[in-house]
Amino acid sequence: MKITIHRGTNQIGGCVTEYEHNGWHLFVDYGDELSGGPKTGELQVEGLTHGDLSKSALLITHYHGDHIGSITKLPEKLPIYMGEVAREIQLVLSNHLKTVIPAHNEMVKLLQSVKTFEAGKDFAFGPFNIRPVTVDHSAFDAYAFRIEVDGVSAYHTGDFRLHGFRSSKFFKMLEQYVGKVDYVVCEATNILRPNATSKKESALQREFESLFKEKKSTVVYLSSTNIDRLFSLYHAALKAGRPFYVDKYQKDMMDVVVNSKSMWTKSSLYQYGKYEPEELMYNKFDKNRFFVSDSFKEYLDKKGYVIIARSSERFDDLLEHIPGEKQKVLSMWNGYVKEGTEAYNENLANSLEGEYDYMHTSGHIDMKDLSKFFHQLQPKAIIPIHTDNPDDFAKLFCDEWPVIMLYDGQSISPISISTADSCRTSIFCTKVLEDGMVYENREEWEEAHGLDVKSIGAFKTIEDSKFALDHTLYRPAAIVGYEIEEEEDLSPFKIQTFDAIKNLLAAYTHGGHQPGGAKYQEACRFAAGGKALAVFQAPYYAVVPVKVIGAITPDSEREYWEKDEFYDTYEDYVKDWDDWHWDSVVVHPLVKLKSKYEQMTDTEIVPRVYLFPYGNTDE
Ligand SMILES: [Zn+2]
Ligand SMILES: [Zn+2]
Repeated sequence: MKITIHRGTNQIGGCVTEYEHNGWHLFVDYGDELSGGPKTGELQVEGLTHGDLSKSALLITHYHGDHIGSITKLPEKLPIYMGEVAREIQLVLSNHLKTVIPAHNEMVKLLQSVKTFEAGKDFAFGPFNIRPVTVDHSAFDAYAFRIEVDGVSAYHTGDFRLHGFRSSKFFKMLEQYVGKVDYVVCEATNILRPNATSKKESALQREFESLFKEKKSTVVYLSSTNIDRLFSLYHAALKAGRPFYVDKYQKDMMDVVVNSKSMWTKSSLYQYGKYEPEELMYNKFDKNRFFVSDSFKEYLDKKGYVIIARSSERFDDLLEHIPGEKQKVLSMWNGYVKEGTEAYNENLANSLEGEYDYMHTSGHIDMKDLSKFFHQLQPKAIIPIHTDNPDDFAKLFCDEWPVIMLYDGQSISPISISTADSCRTSIFCTKVLEDGMVYENREEWEEAHGLDVKSIGAFKTIEDSKFALDHTLYRPAAIVGYEIEEEEDLSPFKIQTFDAIKNLLAAYTHGGHQPGGAKYQEACRFAAGGKALAVFQAPYYAVVPVKVIGAITPDSEREYWEKDEFYDTYEDYVKDWDDWHWDSVVVHPLVKLKSKYEQMTDTEIVPRVYLFPYGNTDE
């Protein structure tokens, strides 16, 4: 599977990701860049914006403009998939906006041919298996995707959070529908917004309920498609005994949700209670105004109200003509009203004029929840997108997870680790040694560590592996080095090892290492008597300081044979040694270890490429 981030490695808006295999292209999202963010301009992507589309499809995670906004610019015959209710909501939105933004006419037309998928129901596209996973976000009917092809799996998070109404069962759902995956292509919106409150949506609802009880008349500004907040406010108003008003457009949107067959609408949150939200009436003679009769004013004066407003002339006019002290509340990202920023929305700021309360919680996951989320999925690596600071994101998570940082347009191409001829790419780190393994410390200050091998996956070529390694940031307590191993017939064919700062340390290529061979006793980086760190695999799995003696020779092997009781003759003993074995170095372990099965002696042998610089771990 080739994963390409065409856009979004260093910006929030307009992420476009491609999953490709054998000429089949599965794209995720094709939205607008944010008005306040950086601009990369029109994308040119083979198989998406032009070229052969016969093996291409586009998945839409949710209806926010930065994910869907540009789909009308794509060739007509490209198949597009999205959630059914999301499509309905987008339709209401586009029908509403088309009078002012003509491009929405195109969107309305295009939505007729958009295919829909269902939560938890797998579908195939070419060789891909796609499982839509419903997630909580400030957009309703939003999805993540588990995408699998040829033994490699990825989880594309879309925008999501764990503090919403629909988040409580998320981990259970992940366990059931996603399991563990190889790679997570993850939204990292809130990395630069540590203060973006991740208050629970339910706690925010209680605050609104108290406010509605306390203040007789409240006007709340929120995004018209923030469905969960909208229903939350509606039920809070019901509980507080205040009439709840929306305009026809907003009521249409609520009706779509209430009448949908979405699995969520069984929840009472998305049902109407004692009375439905009331629709503000339009003025028959002036479409730019609502109709405000004397009896309406009287009623509002008596009962109070909660009005869901947007910044528009019509709402501004309404507020001028109705009674009450009008507590205004901003319930969306406050970046829109910060003067001097590019996202600044002057109309909204004007509508809010004077004093207002800010009551909001982010639609995006916070970093603490992300950490829990990664622990559940146990990925080999994380690829951040939808972020304006991938560096900080990588720094925050790289002590626990390899983070692959790409630039727009770059790809990684992992293949199944069970593919016969593959290059496995691993990071050697230290961890605490298991209790009781040290059997003799020859010099008291020397210390052995446990070996923690973190695989970031398998790749077709050493170049692909090296590219992935070069773009990976992983800094647990200490890194010893990196390894790319190409196997053939279950034994190493090519190995490259790199030091902790990714400089090539040693390379092994099969052939010529037997006594008499062209590469016999290939030069070791470490002189006899020098110290090094040796990586021991089975049965010790340890990183041990050693003193180098020299390359193995038939004589040194003879010593081993003498200690071995299994082989009758030396010839029998060395008969099966393959090329790889003869490229080893004899060392004195400075800390001797024992495992359940054996213990180290005064001399041990270590593959030459597994000797790393002494005291040079990346701590
Ligand atoms: Zn979104
Ligand atoms: Zn987004």
